[in-house]
Amino acid sequence: MIGSSVVLRTRSWIVLCLGGFLGCSTIGSPAALAADCPGHPDALGTSRTLVVDPREHPLIGTMQYRETLPLRDHEVVLTFDDGPLPKYSNQVLKMLDDECIKATFFIIGSQAKANPEGVRKLVAAGHTVGTHSMNHPLTFDRMPIEKAEAEINGGIEWTSAAMTDPSKLAPFFRIPGLMRAEGVEHHLISRGIQVWSADFPADDWRHVSSDRVYQLAIQRLEAKGKGILLLHDIQARTVAALPKIIRDLKARGYRIVHVVPATAERPATPTTPVEWLLHPPTETVPIARWPSVPSFVFTQTRTLPAPSLADLNAQTEHQPLLPRRTKGQMDIASALPVPGRALFAIPEGSVEVLLSTTLSRRAATRLAMAAETPHAARGKAAKGTTAKFQARHTAHAAPAAPKPAPQAKSATPRSTRIASLKKRA
Ligand SMILES: [Zn+2]
Repeated sequence: MIGSSVVLRTRSWIVLCLGGFLGCSTIGSPAALAADCPGHPDALGTSRTLVVDPREHPLIGTMQYRETLPLRDHEVVLTFDDGPLPKYSNQVLKMLDDECIKATFFIIGSQAKANPEGVRKLVAAGHTVGTHSMNHPLTFDRMPIEKAEAEINGGIEWTSAAMTDPSKLAPFFRIPGLMRAEGVEHHLISRGIQVWSADFPADDWRHVSSDRVYQLAIQRLEAKGKGILLLHDIQARTVAALPKIIRDLKARGYRIVHVVPATAERPATPTTPVEWLLHPPTETVPIARWPSVPSFVFTQTRTLPAPSLADLNAQTEHQPLLPRRTKGQMDIASALPVPGRALFAIPEGSVEVLLSTTLSRRAATRLAMAAETPHAARGKAAKGTTAKFQARHTAHAAPAAPKPAPQAKSATPRSTRIASLKKRA
C-alpha cells in the first residue's frame, strides 16, 4: 500500500514538474557552485547534482554493499540521520545554507511527527529527504518482516505528511543502526526504494569529542578519497565538528555532490557499472580485460643460432637426417613379432570362391578350369609325387616352424610390456 503510494507520489511529482513547479526546476538545475553562493564568496558550495535510479542500483554504500554512489575522486556526499531535532538540526541547516551545500537527510517518522516544520525547512532549502523508519529500532536484522514494514511505512507516512508537497520525498531509506537484513532489503527493493548504507561514519553518535568526530571524518575520507559520509544532525558534537569538517574539505580540494532520485522527467545521470564501485580497477591493475593484448618488450633481439645435429638428437654426424625412424616406429618394431608365413597361405578351392565373387560366371569358370588343369595333369602323370607336393605345400604354408626362437623371444617382452601398462593404469 505504501509502495503504491510512493509510486503515486513519484508520478504526481512528475505531473507537478510538467506543470512548471518551481521546486523541480530548482533541484533539476545545475548545482550551485561556490561562486554562486550569495554573501559567501569562500563557500564550499555544491559542485554537481547526481541523479540516481534506485531500481538500477538498489543497495549503495561500501560499509555494507558492493556498490556505492558513482563519485569521482575527491567528491563527497554528506548525509545526516535521525532528525529533525530543532535544537541541532536548525544549526546544521544554517551551516549548510551558508556554504551552499546540498545534503541528504534520513528522517525518523517520530521526529517528523513532533517537528514537521523541520522537515519543511529541509525541503525548502533544497536538500534531499529520505526516511529512516518510524521509531529507529535497532532490531531490523531480526524483527519479523511485518514489523519492519510497519516501521518503514510509518517513517514514510509521517515524513511525507510533514511536507507541503509529499512528492518531494525521495525513495531513499537508511536502515537504523545499519542493521541490515536481506528480507528488509528485498522488501525495499521491491518498492523501488534505494537502501543507503555509507562509505564511512565519523562516530558522532558515540561519546567522543567534536574534535574526534572531525578527525575521523577527515581521516576516513582521506583513506578512501571520496564517498558517502554518515553524520547525525541531532548531536551537539556534530554541530561543533561540522564547521571544521567543511573548512577542511575545502582546504583539501574536496567537492560536494548533491544526490537526487531519477524521475521520468529527470533521467539518471549516465554512468557505467564500474563507476558504482568505490575503487574501480584501473589500467595499472593487472587483471584480465578485453582486449588484453600484452605489449612485450624485447630486451634481446639478436638472431638465434641455427640448431645443430646434437640438438636434433642425432647419434652420429654421419647418420642421415631423413628418413629416420621415429620413436613410435622403433617401439612397434621391437614389440610386435614377425607374422608367420602361414597367414598368407590360401586354402584349397578358395581361388574359385574368390573368383566367383569378383568375376562374371563365365570368366570365373574359364579361369578355374585353367587353374585345375596343372593339378589334374600332375595327379595323372605322377601320383608318386603327391606326397612330395603336399610336403612342399605344407612347408610353404608354415615356414615359421624352423624359426621358433624369434617368436618365443619376442613374446616374452610383449607380455612384460602389457603388464607394465596395466600397472601404470
Ligand atoms: Zn539513525
